[in-house]
Amino acid sequence: MALVTDIGGTRIKLALMRDQSVLAQRTLTAHSDEGLAPQLPKIAQAYDSLCRDAHIDRSECTDIAMAFPSLIDPQTNRVLVAYGKYEDAPRLDLTRWSRETLGLRLWIENDARLALLGEWQAGAGRGCDDLVMLTLGTGLGTAALTEGQVVRGKHGQAGILGGHLTVQQGGRLCTCGNRGCAEAEASTSVLRTIAAGLSDYSASPLRNAGVIDFEKVFRLAREGDSCAESLRVHAIEIWSSLIVNLIHAYDPERVIVGGGIMTGEADFFPDLQHRVLAHAHTPWGQVSIMRSQLGDAAALFGGEYLIRQNSLN
Ligand SMILES: [Zn+2]
Repeated sequence: MALVTDIGGTRIKLALMRDQSVLAQRTLTAHSDEGLAPQLPKIAQAYDSLCRDAHIDRSECTDIAMAFPSLIDPQTNRVLVAYGKYEDAPRLDLTRWSRETLGLRLWIENDARLALLGEWQAGAGRGCDDLVMLTLGTGLGTAALTEGQVVRGKHGQAGILGGHLTVQQGGRLCTCGNRGCAEAEASTSVLRTIAAGLSDYSASPLRNAGVIDFEKVFRLAREGDSCAESLRVHAIEIWSSLIVNLIHAYDPERVIVGGGIMTGEADFFPDLQHRVLAHAHTPWGQVSIMRSQLGDAAALFGGEYLIRQNSLN
């Protein structure tokens, strides 16, 4: 029995799971600007609620898996860096919190890497041991699996920094300190800045749109707004360049695209597929560019798998 949590910038998703089945689930509104510490009591309460919902005694649970949008130190099980969300997370000892407050073992891992594991075991990656995962959302997450092994690297950061591959020489300054990262060029967090730099922005409904997200951009592009269309084309170019880089780096047979932007209509997806296939160099054949099957539950399924794997060892 596994308690699994996916800590996102806007939502915290929790599930009680057993053998790839969700027995109960809850979603909390995340207040990432307040830090992670104030969320922990709410998370602990939600675990109790999940067990009650599923009529299970919490003592039947021994482990928690936590998906977190950052780099995690594989030696210490600690969050290494905050990227403008949950600024206190690197200072927290979550393993200790889990043990002392809940009496449970904690496994914490990068969220895109857990999404990859979830899709591999129960989603679009089933039956394929060479995968790349890309999550499109507030930020961009990536992860890679080659010959059935998750790519981790000495410091745990191999494969998961795809959002920080340079796709625009001399481009925008990124939260990581580099310029022209995919995340600084085409993620929800930078849409307003990019839109404001376009010549037709002042005449576009985007100017007075409040929060700009890709759903809004794609809808206005469909309705013929030229500023939204420029943003749409720009995003597809950036994402396809990033995917081509990931294909050249990790030699996958499938690339799975998920994240918040993919949970909507995602009518841009055929254009993205076409552009990737036109530019990827794969003389052995053709990479499949697929949509996530598990949607925003992918990291939860990955967390449940992580616990099962670790309890076998
Ligand atoms: Zn960056």
